[in-house]
Amino acid sequence: MTVQAAETRRFEAEVEQVLKLVTHSLYSHKEIFLRELVSNASDALDKLRFEAIAKPELTAGDTDLHVEIAFDKAARTLTLRDNGIGMSREEVIENIGTIARSGTRRFLESLTGDARKDTQLIGQFGVGFYSTFVVADSVTLVTRRADLPAEQAVRWTSNGTSEYALDTVTETRRGTTITLHLKPEEDEFLDSWKLRNLIGKYSDHIAFPIRMLKEKFGEEGESSGPEIETINHASALWTRPKNELKDEDYTAFYKHAAHAYDEPLAWTHNRVEGNQSYTSLLYLPTQAPFDMAFSGRDERKGLKLYIRRVFIMDASEHLLPAYLRFVRGVIDSDDLPLNVSREILQENKLVAQIRSGLTKRTLDLLDTLAADQPEKYATFWSNFGAVLKEGAAEDHANRERIAKLLRFASTKGEGSAAKVSLDDYIGRMKDGQDTIYYVTADGFAAASGSPQIEALKARDVEVLLMGERIDEWMMGYLHEYAGKKLRNVAKGELDLTKLGSVDEAKEKEADAAAKPVIDRLKTLLGAKVKDVRASKRLTESASCLVVDEYDMAPHLKRMLKAAGQDVPDAAPTLEINANHALVQRASNEADEDRAREIATLLLEQAQLLEGAALDDPAGFVKRMNALIAG
Ligand code: ADP
Ligand code: MG
Repeated sequence: MTVQAAETRRFEAEVEQVLKLVTHSLYSHKEIFLRELVSNASDALDKLRFEAIAKPELTAGDTDLHVEIAFDKAARTLTLRDNGIGMSREEVIENIGTIARSGTRRFLESLTGDARKDTQLIGQFGVGFYSTFVVADSVTLVTRRADLPAEQAVRWTSNGTSEYALDTVTETRRGTTITLHLKPEEDEFLDSWKLRNLIGKYSDHIAFPIRMLKEKFGEEGESSGPEIETINHASALWTRPKNELKDEDYTAFYKHAAHAYDEPLAWTHNRVEGNQSYTSLLYLPTQAPFDMAFSGRDERKGLKLYIRRVFIMDASEHLLPAYLRFVRGVIDSDDLPLNVSREILQENKLVAQIRSGLTKRTLDLLDTLAADQPEKYATFWSNFGAVLKEGAAEDHANRERIAKLLRFASTKGEGSAAKVSLDDYIGRMKDGQDTIYYVTADGFAAASGSPQIEALKARDVEVLLMGERIDEWMMGYLHEYAGKKLRNVAKGELDLTKLGSVDEAKEKEADAAAKPVIDRLKTLLGAKVKDVRASKRLTESASCLVVDEYDMAPHLKRMLKAAGQDVPDAAPTLEINANHALVQRASNEADEDRAREIATLLLEQAQLLEGAALDDPAGFVKRMNALIAG
């Protein structure tokens, strides 16, 4: 292999942009660079330990995995060294010189161009390695990948502007050494007490020892040579007893393990002993990460699998169902074989048990949060509710538990806020009411304005208003909750007799009275409708559309059509409010053509209210104008 000569490369344009922003704006929390570097070192040690399972020679001769921190006041340098996996030349270019990393890309995508807001964003996302340039005017990184010979080590140097230099060097030790040449005003980091303090605050939970030279205060005459001490707790946080851990410990660990920059909303830490043993530490994030595309269910990250303290892989997709993909944390199994592959994980019985155990833990955590900290639960719901809803459809075994966690807007709620639970609803049900009523539509406004809910509103019966895309699909699986039927008010015949307040004899009379109007409308509209009925839903509007009980809601049909799917086109059923002036007018109009125009208007209005686009908007306007002009 030819040794590459020294070269100078430009950062990718985007990296340059990030560097500029970072160095100018991270001042208020500049010490985070230390946390970032320690976190990277810890990741590198984890990776080495994993690769060494298959290739023990990688750690032979140096099995003491650790991080060292040292500083030199005279040279104004701060050095972090790890004996982890290291990087090849290509990896250095890939990881440190380009924007390929998702974190940076995500960060850039979130930039607003407004300097003040962008500064805040940096605090929210962090930018890993680049944060070194907040305090350093130049950084040197020397690294040797554990499986490469000493002569193939790499030195990377940059002052964090637009270029970096690369060189091939010889380095007998594997791993990575990063030397920061501190800016003149950053003296505070050349201080043993300060560094220990920061490690204690941000990195105590790191599972590997972080070592520093022991500070000696006026102990003249000692000649025992330099004494090194470990300055962090140096044991995997999840292995420590709960009563020993403070909230800050859990929070700091979350940020490291999940590569997150928000605060965790809640967590649950458990040890299971039995036919198999494992420890789990699960977190609910506060913010949805930018790359958590809710539709991209395959890209899942943030739940790390350890086996007997050894980091194996990010295995979220095997350890939790898709609808809990927002969960972050670690699982440490005592029983799985160290050489597990993704294929094994997929079929392993122990993994299946862990998965159902973790599902239960997560639902327990959500239950507790909803009961004890409704404010926090509301935050969770607004960020992840749409994801959890998938579970109500997919997880048959836990359906009732998930249903309990759902929140909706309602005719008795506060505007569009999704705050009403099914239990809230049941608690307010009217005497004689045995059904939970809801309506699905494309958006909250369409749901709350849908004519189908009028009769229920008039009887003071609550209706849940569902305006999210997933709702119609989810409700297809949710027919009952706590022994109560769930019923879409826009579907099938609505029987409200049990809700009292209606005089049955009168209703029959009204039906009979409406018959001539209905017959006439049927003739006038012909094949445009499947049926015309007198409505029990309408009190104010003239007309509305209904579908059969097991038919797809019209807005879902439209969505599927727009997505290019084949959906059968069936004529709708039109319900009319026989008492409405417009309906009366259609009924009394002697001129057949004019009557047809009014009937068509009744149908078109119902379509508009339901959210559909009209086939013939120009015709609609003409009909409308003719009617108004009389
Ligand atoms: P992140 O840790 O979020 O990936 P960073 O900017 O902190 O982002 O690091 C970028 C990448 O550089 C890491 O993903 C890793 O591949 C590599 N890297 C950084 N520090 C080290 C190190 N000490 N040892 C090995 N690789 C490292
Ligand atoms: Mg990092």
